[in-house]
Amino acid sequence: MPNMSPNKVPMPHQEPNVRNKNVAEVATGYTLEMAQEEADRCLQCKHKPCVNGCPVGVQIPEFIALIKEGDIEGAYDKIKETNALPAVCGRVCPQEDQCEKLCVRAIKHEAVGIGRLERFVADYHMANGENKIPNIEKNGHKVAVVGAGPAGLTCAGDLAKKGYEVTVYEALHKAGGVLEYGIPEFRLPKAIVSKEVQA
Ligand code: SF4
Repeated sequence: MPNMSPNKVPMPHQEPNVRNKNVAEVATGYTLEMAQEEADRCLQCKHKPCVNGCPVGVQIPEFIALIKEGDIEGAYDKIKETNALPAVCGRVCPQEDQCEKLCVRAIKHEAVGIGRLERFVADYHMANGENKIPNIEKNGHKVAVVGAGPAGLTCAGDLAKKGYEVTVYEALHKAGGVLEYGIPEFRLPKAIVSKEVQA
C-alpha cells in the first residue's frame, strides 16, 4: 500500500533564529528514511502525467521506484539519462509549476515531493557514489559551445554522450553561469554547483 499521507514529508531546515545569522542553505535535505517515506507516496501511475511536466523528460516514477527499493545509485543513473544537473534542478526548478503540478496526488492534496527526491538522490550520489566515465565511441566531429551556463553545460553533455568532442568556452572565471553568479548561497550553495559541473 502506498503512503496516503496528504502532505509531503516536511523538508528539514534551519530554524529562523539560526538561519538569520548565516548564509548557509536554509533547506537541509531529506535523510534516506525521509526520502523512502516520501517515495512511498508515489502511486506509480502508468500514464506518468508528472513526466509530461518535466522539460527534460526525467522518468520520474522509475527513479522514485528505485528510491523505494533502496537503489539510490540506480535512481541517480535514471535521472542522469535526461538531466545533467539533478542537484541543481532538485533545488531550484519550479516543480510546483512543472512536474508536481501534474502529479495526480496534487488533485486533492500535496503533490509527491519530486524535487525533494531528486535533490536527495543527487546529494546522496555526491556523498557516496562515484562518477562513472562512460565509454563513448567518438564520432570524429568537434563542437564548440559558447557559455558554460546551465544551457551550455547541458548541451555539451548531451553532445559528448553522442560522441562529439566538445570544447566549452566561458568568459567568466567559473563555469555555471546564472547558477554560480545569480542564485544566492542560501538557496543554491556554490559547492553544489561546482561538484555538479565536475560530474
Ligand atoms: S503523477 Fe505523482 S503519483 Fe503519479 S507517478 Fe508521477 S509522481 Fe508518482
